[in-house]
Amino acid sequence: MKKTQGFSTRAIHTGQETDPSTDAVIPPITLSTTYRMPAAGVVKKYDYTRLGNPNRSNMEAAVADLENAKYCCAFASGCSVTSAIINTLDSGTHIICVNDVYTGTHNILAKIAPKHQIQTSFVDMSIASNINQHFQSNTKLVWLETPTNPTMRITDIAEIAKYTHDHGSILVVDNTFLTPYFQNPLALGADIVMHSATKYINGHSDVLMGLALTNDETLYKNLVFIQASMGAVPSPFDSFLARRGMMTLAIRMKAHETNAQAVAQFLENQHRTVDQVFYPGLASHPQHHIAAKQQHGYGGMLSFKLKGNLDNVNAFLTSLKVFALAESLGGVESLVEVPSLMTHATIDPKERQALGITDTLIRMSVGIEDVEDLIEDLEQALGKSKIETKNVEDLIEDLDQALGKSKIETIV
Ligand SMILES: *Cc1c(COP(=O)(O)O)cnc(C)c1O
Repeated sequence: MKKTQGFSTRAIHTGQETDPSTDAVIPPITLSTTYRMPAAGVVKKYDYTRLGNPNRSNMEAAVADLENAKYCCAFASGCSVTSAIINTLDSGTHIICVNDVYTGTHNILAKIAPKHQIQTSFVDMSIASNINQHFQSNTKLVWLETPTNPTMRITDIAEIAKYTHDHGSILVVDNTFLTPYFQNPLALGADIVMHSATKYINGHSDVLMGLALTNDETLYKNLVFIQASMGAVPSPFDSFLARRGMMTLAIRMKAHETNAQAVAQFLENQHRTVDQVFYPGLASHPQHHIAAKQQHGYGGMLSFKLKGNLDNVNAFLTSLKVFALAESLGGVESLVEVPSLMTHATIDPKERQALGITDTLIRMSVGIEDVEDLIEDLEQALGKSKIETKNVEDLIEDLDQALGKSKIETIV
């Protein structure tokens, strides 16, 4: 299939080979763990399912096409991709990682890799040149996530790629939040793109899967060796489900973005209850200009700081009816969570504070429900958040609008 076809055409058709025995349009799930050989040691296409399976191959081919990558390896989870990439490195290696990184990635780099003499410096990369002073002679890998989770900081991928390559390192970009529909890190200079396909790529909160993509044959061979040897591979059933979910990636991402933009704007106008909104699509976002330059859209993730304290946060969260209070993201349904107590609870409190992950920071995965229902839900729950406003301007604003509704007729 040629690359000239559109995104959705490729998302629907690439890798979907018709089953020759039944002519089924949708390939069946191949559960067999082993395959007949025409002669001893001769492998036609598959021999053992850890090494390869038709549903996995189908998934890998399709995502490679969407990321414009030559190669793709599917893994059992996003975290197993991270482990596989770290396992390609020799002991004694140094890594530079964005400081506001996914908690699972942080745990692998800060708590597991050091056991193998692999050390990591965590760096704020929202100003790309910050990275330069952290390179060492043994730095081999730079790990970037943009936007970051949960504070939605944006990093200039092309700039980081330049500094990384100048120092003889490779750049990995975690593209989970934006997917190939909104961002293509390989085209911006990344050497490996990774995804937790658990999120938007599958899109229905019912599969755990990870993906690594690259154009570099050596990196690919190293990853395939680890994929086959360590064995953290997705099941045929999960590969089938994720492949099915991915068919609607484009229309889902468009809907996520439209809804997130509307929700972000709504929240930004709630001056009495909301302190600050972090969404790269808002003009107020500090790196909005970088996002506009390197992304094709702003995605469905946002976070915001509620006024008040944790009691207010809980009063708000427990009043929500459409948004579910739950971890994870990227499904069709809207989710909301408190990173400091949930996804980021294992991060050192001092580090969390430095990143701005306070108890009143709320992260939201905006789903593709009708946006009026989402906004109505937020409005009623904010009303129940019991935030007391002591700010004089807010009180005056409140009196002003109440007087406006008092129906007093003025006769001049
Ligand atoms: C969820 C997530 C991961 C880890 O993926 P799993 O599939 O949960 O192992 C990595 N990076 C980001 C940005 C994620 O959101």
